[in-house]
Amino acid sequence: MQGISACDMNRRRLVLIVDDEFVNRQLLGFIINRDYDVIYAENGREALEQIKRHEKMLSLVLLDLLMPEIDGYELLQIIKDDANLRRIPVIVLTSEKSAEVQSLQLGAADFITKPYDMPEVILARVRRSIELAENNVIIHATENDVLTGLYTRQFFFEYCQQHDRYCPEMPMDALVLNINHFRILNELHGRPYGDNVLRIIADSIITLLSGSNGIACRCDADTFYIYLSHHNNYDELLDEFMDGLKTVNLNNRISLRMGVYENVDKEMDIEQRFDRAILACNTLRGNYKTAYVLYDMQFHEREIYSEKLIEDMYIAIEQKQFKVYYQPKYDITGDTPHLYSAEALIRWIHPEYGMISPGSFIPLFEENGLIQKLDRYVWEETASQIARWKENYGVTIPVSVNVSRINIYDPNLENELIGIVENVGLTPKELHLEITESAYTNNSHQIVETVERLRSHGFHIEMDDFGSGYSSLNMLSEMPIDALKLDMKFVRNICTNEKDRRMVKLIIEIAEFLNVPVIAEGVETKEQCDLLKKMSCDVIQGYYFSRPVPPEEFNSFIEKELSS
Ligand code: C2E
Ligand code: CA
Ligand code: CA
Repeated sequence: MQGISACDMNRRRLVLIVDDEFVNRQLLGFIINRDYDVIYAENGREALEQIKRHEKMLSLVLLDLLMPEIDGYELLQIIKDDANLRRIPVIVLTSEKSAEVQSLQLGAADFITKPYDMPEVILARVRRSIELAENNVIIHATENDVLTGLYTRQFFFEYCQQHDRYCPEMPMDALVLNINHFRILNELHGRPYGDNVLRIIADSIITLLSGSNGIACRCDADTFYIYLSHHNNYDELLDEFMDGLKTVNLNNRISLRMGVYENVDKEMDIEQRFDRAILACNTLRGNYKTAYVLYDMQFHEREIYSEKLIEDMYIAIEQKQFKVYYQPKYDITGDTPHLYSAEALIRWIHPEYGMISPGSFIPLFEENGLIQKLDRYVWEETASQIARWKENYGVTIPVSVNVSRINIYDPNLENELIGIVENVGLTPKELHLEITESAYTNNSHQIVETVERLRSHGFHIEMDDFGSGYSSLNMLSEMPIDALKLDMKFVRNICTNEKDRRMVKLIIEIAEFLNVPVIAEGVETKEQCDLLKKMSCDVIQGYYFSRPVPPEEFNSFIEKELSS
């Protein structure tokens, strides 16, 4: 594919005339050589040599169909099949009406009928074909993703709609294809390797499309959209994609995930159809296996539920339908467990649905930015609660609040937090902040800076969900943190799964190296608790001690602690 530069606009175009009859060549040449540079060939073989020699400069071929050796049809086919030559328009010279259809099918841009008795018509056709072809190159340049040659997102949707217009009855599927942990592949093997993987997948998609009715594009880095006539076997499809990757799939590190919205509803907006496929695809996030998920009724119901929650969230904030619950964390390093702190966890007491857990609504609030408002509410509530307990019991129960990653980018974050604690007469060290590990990996520089500033004011920082992100040891040693919270998924199977147990051991060693305590959350049984204690884990949070409870109920934990 080539673009057109400004200086190209003024150059005289080069035209090749191919005809085995001398008189015809001369006549045509005479008609167009005032406006164009002209070269000649007297048979197909010679024409091909000329085309190859002037490949970059040639603007048009005027081609006689009936010639010895390689004839015009054959030459048309050769040009059409060659990715570099395809852009050169060909006008077919013919005296037979019947030849026109066939040559148009072979990709001819236009035709000129013999004898050549209307020079102005010939000149106009020549000019028009060249202009069209050149515009086409310009369009093509923005239409296609440079790396893979697939459409870009914008043109893709355009063409999907066009496809629906022409084939309204054809059942279609919307597919979203994604590479698992592509960023890590890139980091491990370098960008050229990653680019190669993307190209190979694109080639597989192109092969797939050549056998069925469809269109594809590459959206963000490693996301492909495919709009395809309804398919029955998605396993087979994924197998084909994986097969293509065989040569580059070192240690089987590459795996794909696919979301499918089959038999799309054409009444729906085209982008919405792909949103459904994305939704299905996202459920496979974090996977290491190649797999697909179909968008089904359950998704649909969840979607409707989410929409209802989004609709209600503004009023909910206004009417304070949110309540902060507290879950105790116990220090288990001594003979008996001691109340160490608590985590503040939000609940939505919805007038219609009752208590909703944050997993259902936090992601929605994160999407539309309302999370900042919500988090601020939780921080304020928590700070006043710490102050109330301090007043009632004479001790500080430090409580950790969750800080959404969006807040990290807020330049006003530290002032806001300082304002909140000072407002209720506390100091920053009495409020703990939980920041999820994956936030660190996404933008480590900015976050390290922000966290350093927060710490310099005295805030205590816990790295949440540790083990779910991909922090390197190198990065960790620079990380300003005060505690590591072990990701719940390792704790879940710690008693039965050797791999998870080793992971926990490793994380505890990392924490020792960093000289910070380890907090294990999601601890539900005595066995888990005992094992973690044996592995020198410092703090435990989980149903084993208590579920998150409203502040009134939490009082009893404080009272018990004070009386022991
Ligand atoms: P998280 O920060 O990892 O919080 C721990 C989650 O584990 C909580 O879920 C808690 O109720 C649950 N949990 C505690 N002990 C156990 C146990 O023994 N077994 C099991 N299976 N689960 C246990 P919850 O309250 O549903 O919160 C889910 C997530 O929502 C939190 O995960 C956190 O990421 C987010 N979240 C909660 N409150 C807030 C908030 O105020 N602001 C923000 N930004 N996010 C919040
Ligand atoms: Ca947390
Ligand atoms: Ca956590």
